[in-house]
Amino acid sequence: MQVFFSSLFELESFSHRLKSIPQSNACQFCLKNCEWVSHGYVYKQLNYQFRAIVGKRILCSNRGSHLGCGRTRQLYLDVVLPHKHYPLQTLLAFVIALFDGLPISKAWHGAVGHHRTEPRQAWRWLNSLMSKLANIRSLLQRTCQPCSPFNSRRLALLLPTLQALFASQPHLQRIQSRLQMSLLA
Ligand SMILES: [Zn+2]
Repeated sequence: MQVFFSSLFELESFSHRLKSIPQSNACQFCLKNCEWVSHGYVYKQLNYQFRAIVGKRILCSNRGSHLGCGRTRQLYLDVVLPHKHYPLQTLLAFVIALFDGLPISKAWHGAVGHHRTEPRQAWRWLNSLMSKLANIRSLLQRTCQPCSPFNSRRLALLLPTLQALFASQPHLQRIQSRLQMSLLA
């Protein structure tokens, strides 16, 4: 099922067409594609006062005359990293700083724009990207160069693949909706 959308307009029009979406968008649990109903927005709290819409929830309805299974799915704007605090833009800035050879902690602080948090999260992101590596490689036409200027083994494995992936994208900010894949596991 399409999970990432490049705009709220696109997400809204998809959710308004839920009754007529093709079989490829069927529920993964009960395989029905005609029982989806909109089930509210997904918000992200920006500060104590404001929250932004970052996605929409849909329900495979089992209420009334519906014959679905009652499970929900979340659909997201592609600028969002699902279940993560930071947006895609921060992750892209972090990875691009690593391409430029910055140390991990410096790349992290530059990407988040402050020094208030420990760069432990950066290692979590690297682990998460590593677990996506096979997935990303399968998307790429060409195999990545085995030699790499990055001296840590993990970065030497990861960064050339991400460089090839980023180079294949005309609009990096749209990468998640174009691939229909979250960059982080
Ligand atoms: Zn279902």
